[in-house]
Amino acid sequence: MRVITPRKVEIKVRRPNGETETVIHPKIDYMTDGLFRQINQAMEKAGRGQMTSYRNIEAVVEMEDSDYQGRCERCGDSLDTRTAYNQKEWSRFGGKKVQVIAHYCDRCHKVLANVGLGEATELEQRASRVQSYEPTTKQD
Ligand SMILES: [Zn+2]
Repeated sequence: MRVITPRKVEIKVRRPNGETETVIHPKIDYMTDGLFRQINQAMEKAGRGQMTSYRNIEAVVEMEDSDYQGRCERCGDSLDTRTAYNQKEWSRFGGKKVQVIAHYCDRCHKVLANVGLGEATELEQRASRVQSYEPTTKQD
């Protein structure tokens, strides 16, 4: 991934003379409500006016081929995530349950498809933990 324009924070500042300016923050590239309050308190003490609002602006990036290099979740073979079979799975990340996209090579995808035919694998165990949106009863 190549960063064309880094992320930044645009702030609106009301200066002590009453004028309002819109500027890019010189030091901070991502603002939160808590940080916004802290900085505002410091600015008020310093008599430099007050920020009235902020807007986080995402970086502009260009994807490169290397960004699409992934590994098969089952066998570890390298693959291209743009063309490989993938499915959504749940994973734990920092104590939170997050949805991830797992990629599988063609060979492992076949195994995955055969899970229902009797082969019990780690994939099946993982798949069973994923909540399905499919109805559990068949409607005629
Ligand atoms: Zn594989």
